[in-house]
Amino acid sequence: MVRFLDLQKLNQFYEPSLSQEAKKIIDSGFFIRGRACSEFESAFALFCGVPYCVGVGNGLDALTLIFKAYIELGRIKPGDEVIIPANTYIATMLAVSETGLVPVLVEPDEESFNLDPLLLEKALTPKTRAILPVHLYGRSANMNPILSFAKEHQLLVVEDAAQAHGAYYGKERVGSLGDAAAFSFYPSKNLGALGDGGAVTTKDVSLAQVVRTLSNYGAQKKYVNTYKGVNSRLDEIQAAFLSVKLPYLERHNARRRSIAERYLNEIKNPLIRLPQMGVSEEHVWHAFVLRTDYREEFIKHLQNRGIETLVYYPKAPHQQEAYKTGLIHGELPITEKIAASVVSIPLNPILTDDEVTEVVQGVNDFVC
Ligand SMILES: *Cc1c(COP(=O)(O)O)cnc(C)c1O
Repeated sequence: MVRFLDLQKLNQFYEPSLSQEAKKIIDSGFFIRGRACSEFESAFALFCGVPYCVGVGNGLDALTLIFKAYIELGRIKPGDEVIIPANTYIATMLAVSETGLVPVLVEPDEESFNLDPLLLEKALTPKTRAILPVHLYGRSANMNPILSFAKEHQLLVVEDAAQAHGAYYGKERVGSLGDAAAFSFYPSKNLGALGDGGAVTTKDVSLAQVVRTLSNYGAQKKYVNTYKGVNSRLDEIQAAFLSVKLPYLERHNARRRSIAERYLNEIKNPLIRLPQMGVSEEHVWHAFVLRTDYREEFIKHLQNRGIETLVYYPKAPHQQEAYKTGLIHGELPITEKIAASVVSIPLNPILTDDEVTEVVQGVNDFVC
């Protein structure tokens, strides 16, 4: 049996530290935005190469709070347009529409699954104010052309880094490339809490301050409310858990890379299309995404061998009931083709070499 991701086994790796940290917080009697939170914020800011990090409740809130903060700062206003990739998790889109902004969808480049910078020009209108690239599946988006396009047209760049903790673009980490970035610490992400968690990273002190204030009822000081805020804070226990895990992130990402390398070298099956990329530091392999025209049969074949798979995402957000209206986009044939053909095989830092071999054999034995 090869589980897609065995969270029990993954977290066992960090014991007894997790239990010790939990006990410390329980004994301290202090649970929200105390020392554990600020210690993690400093460590994660340093890791990403930015001066500021604000711990928040989850990844969706991290994205939403960035846009809310830019609205408070007068940089954007409801009705303005944000360019986003059409093939992403629905959270990316929800953050934009939740703040009264309008998502404008562009197709990905089929090789990287990430936003195609060549399509920005066509999506641009007088209302465009921001671009929201997603570092999907752990690979940094192609940021240089996105950043220079943004500069030319005075657009904000907000990174959705929820799947790419630790990935590089050139010499810089994701999370430090745009004006601000959102991370999720959902348990299955490359850096995962044991519950919900998220963070905003930025070089912009005023943005960091407004995000922090908004996330705590809009209050700069207790009972002094500057904005109509929300409640979205990273709690002490989750922050302490994340501080236990952060020092292992690089090692675990390296293990992900070496498994990806084996898959890229050893999987040989004409019915299966491998990711079209080599192994570099730009990719932290949150997922290993194959494509096949025989997805259902393939999933069943691996299932029979006890190998779990996951399809993300079987439907693109614009194909969901929730977004029958409210999006701007043309035809999206690449996105729809991707949604119809992707399937992920297990790739995580606790897979054993034997399990990797089992997966390789399973994939190579697939016939249809
Ligand atoms: C997980 C994820 C989010 C949302 O994070 P949550 O913590 O679950 O709210 C946003 N965008 C992408 C690309 C994600 O993978």
